Amino acid sequence: MTLPALRAMGSVICLCIEAALLWPSGRVAVIGTGLTGLETAEILAMDGSKIIMVEMLPEIGPGLYAPILREMKVSLDKYAPKLYTGHQLIGITVDSVSLKCCATEGIVQVEADSVVLALGVRPRQDLAETFQREFRNVVVVGDAEKGGRIYDAVKTGFCKAFAFNPA
Ligand SMILES: Cc1cc2nc3c(=O)[nH]c(=O)nc-3n(C[C@H](O)[C@H](O)[C@H](O)COP(=O)(O)OP(=O)(O)OC[C@H]3O[C@@H](n4cnc5c(N)ncnc54)[C@H](O)[C@@H]3O)c2cc1C
Repeated sequence: MTLPALRAMGSVICLCIEAALLWPSGRVAVIGTGLTGLETAEILAMDGSKIIMVEMLPEIGPGLYAPILREMKVSLDKYAPKLYTGHQLIGITVDSVSLKCCATEGIVQVEADSVVLALGVRPRQDLAETFQREFRNVVVVGDAEKGGRIYDAVKTGFCKAFAFNPA
């Protein structure tokens, strides 16, 4: 992906708004509509930003638990975000994002003052293996093993702790 004017843009924030020092405002393009993207979009919309949501899959909130997604949609609809589903981010310029339509391969340029990249997280098996090489009894749990919900994280932690034998 070419991001020619990345440095010049107002702000580009990766992954999680809570971890960011910058607070985007104005027209904000939120790229990715997993829970992080949706919740970020909602908070920024509540704060007065005009939200542009971009998702390369045909629907927002891929894989989300249906009742949670419904609730998020109701809440976001109040702020009338611009939706670009089926569009992939291919570039960022000083005042816009470039999107490619996955169906037609046509390019659209959408004006934006800031961009939030909420492109998802995934476990790092290589990192776990590094620890496993160096230490005995390395146990990987929660989202580090497999992304999921709080219930899954607690359950894997509990099950592995139950069978854990540090000797
Ligand atoms: C936006 C969002 C909304 C969600 N909403 C829900 C929901 O409504 N219901 C639900 O069931 N699940 C929800 N989830 C999923 C849920 O948050 C996770 O499945 C769960 O938190 C996983 O627990 P964990 O302990 O494995 O990881 P985490 O909760 O991510 O905990 C990892 C911790 O390690 C810390 N950390 C990372 N690196 C270091 C380091 N080098 N040194 C020290 N500390 C470090 C992090 O800061 C973090 O506190 C949501 C996830 C996201 C992203």
